[in-house]
Amino acid sequence: MPEKSMYQQALDLFPPVALRATQLGVVKGEGAYVWDENGKKYIDFASGVAVVNCGHNHPYVVEKVKEQIDELIHGGHNVVYYPSYIKLAEKILGHVGRDYKIYFSNSGAEANEAAIKLAKQVTHRPGIISFKHSFHGRTLATTTLTASNAKYRRNYEGLLPSVYYADFPYATRSGLSEKAEVERCLRSIDEIFHDLIEPEQVACMILEPIQGEGGYIVPPKSFLQAVRKICDDHGILLIFDEVQTGFGRTGKIFAYENFDVKPDIMSLAKAIANGFPLSAIVARRDLMDQWPAGTHGGTFGGNPVACAAGVAVFELLEAGLADHAAEIGAYFKQKLLELTEKHDEILEVRGLGLMIGIEFVDRSGRPDGAIVTAIRKNALEKGLILLNCGVDHNVIRFIPPLIVTRDQIDAAFAIFKDSVEEALHEAAQKK
Ligand code: PMP
Repeated sequence: MPEKSMYQQALDLFPPVALRATQLGVVKGEGAYVWDENGKKYIDFASGVAVVNCGHNHPYVVEKVKEQIDELIHGGHNVVYYPSYIKLAEKILGHVGRDYKIYFSNSGAEANEAAIKLAKQVTHRPGIISFKHSFHGRTLATTTLTASNAKYRRNYEGLLPSVYYADFPYATRSGLSEKAEVERCLRSIDEIFHDLIEPEQVACMILEPIQGEGGYIVPPKSFLQAVRKICDDHGILLIFDEVQTGFGRTGKIFAYENFDVKPDIMSLAKAIANGFPLSAIVARRDLMDQWPAGTHGGTFGGNPVACAAGVAVFELLEAGLADHAAEIGAYFKQKLLELTEKHDEILEVRGLGLMIGIEFVDRSGRPDGAIVTAIRKNALEKGLILLNCGVDHNVIRFIPPLIVTRDQIDAAFAIFKDSVEEALHEAAQKK
C-alpha cells in the first residue's frame, strides 16, 4: 500500500478547523520555491500568507538564526533582556521614529489584542470602531474586530461589547466615483457617532491600510487622511493593522508610508521574522509610557531566536528589498493588466508592490468564487501556489516572496494565464 500523504494523515490527526488552504505537504523551501513530499517543485505565490517576505530559508536569515541558537535560546522575555530583542526594537523604531516604543508578542491577533488593550488603558473609553470586510484575527477579541465573514463569529457570539463597524471604500463594488465612495464611508462613521456611540466614548479605530482578507482593497489616500483627522478631532487613537501589509510587501517598509498617514498604534506580525512566531505593536511613546507594568504580557513574546530572524529581515529590507518589491510588483501588475484586456471576467487588478489582487466576476458581473477555485486548482497542478481572498472568495492574491525575480514572475504568469484560460473554457463548456 502506498504511504499516506501528509494531507491524509492530517485528516486523522487534526480537526477540520486546522485544515490548510491547499492539500500540500511540503518538505523543503528555497527562495520562491517549495517542494512537496513527492519532490514536485512549486513557485510559491502565497509565502505562507505574506510571511516569508525574504524567501524560504534565506541564507542570511538562516545564518543569523543559527548564530543566535548557538548563543542563547531563552524563553523568558518576562524575565530578562537580550541583544536581539534590543537590536530589533532599535531597527524598527529607527525606521518608524523614536517618538514611538515597541512591545513584542507572538501573533497578529495577539498584537491586535495588545493594541486595543493599550487604547482602552490610556483613553479610559469603551468604544472601538472597526471596518466592514476587515480581518484582525481569530482570538475572541479579534474575532469581534473581524467583519469579513459571519462564519468567524458563528456560535462564538457574546463577543467584546461596544465594537461598531464603518464602511471601507471599495468603489469598484459600490459603483460610485472615488470621491463619492469616500464620502459615503465617512458618513458611515458619522452615523455611528450619531446613532450608536458618541466619539468621546470611542477609544480607537482599527483598520488595515489595505484590506487583506477582505479582497486586497486599496483605499484612496484621502480616506485614510480623513480618518486620521476624525481621530485627531475626537481624541480617538488610530490603529493600523499592518500584519499583512508590513515589512516591504507594498513596496515600502510599512504600508502607511504609501498614504502619508501615521497611526498612533500599529500592529505587526507575519513577515516580521520570515516565518518565526513574532509580532509587535509600535505605539506613540507617550501612550506606551502610560501602560502600567504587569498589566499585559506573555511568556514567549520577543524570544531571542525570532528577534534574531527579525533583525536579519530588517537588514535585508534596508538593503533594498522593499524597493525591489515596488519595482517587480509594477512589472507583474502590468502583465496582469494586459491579461485583463483579454477577459471580461477580470473585473480589476489592484494593489501596491507585491500585494496584488485580481478580481473575477461572471458574465453578468456577479462575484465568481467558483472560477477562482478552478484557477487555483489548475495552477497548483502546474506548480504554482495561489491563494484567494475577498468576502466572496472571488479575488486571487499574489503575494510571492519579495526576492522573486523577473524570470520567476514570467514563469508564474505563464502558469496563471494558462490556468485562467483553462478554467474559463471549462466553465463555458458546462453552460
Ligand atoms: N491582521 C491581519 C490584517 C491579518 O491578515 C491576519 C492574518 N491573516 C491577522 C491580523 C491575524 O494574524 P495571526 O494569524 O498571526 O493571528
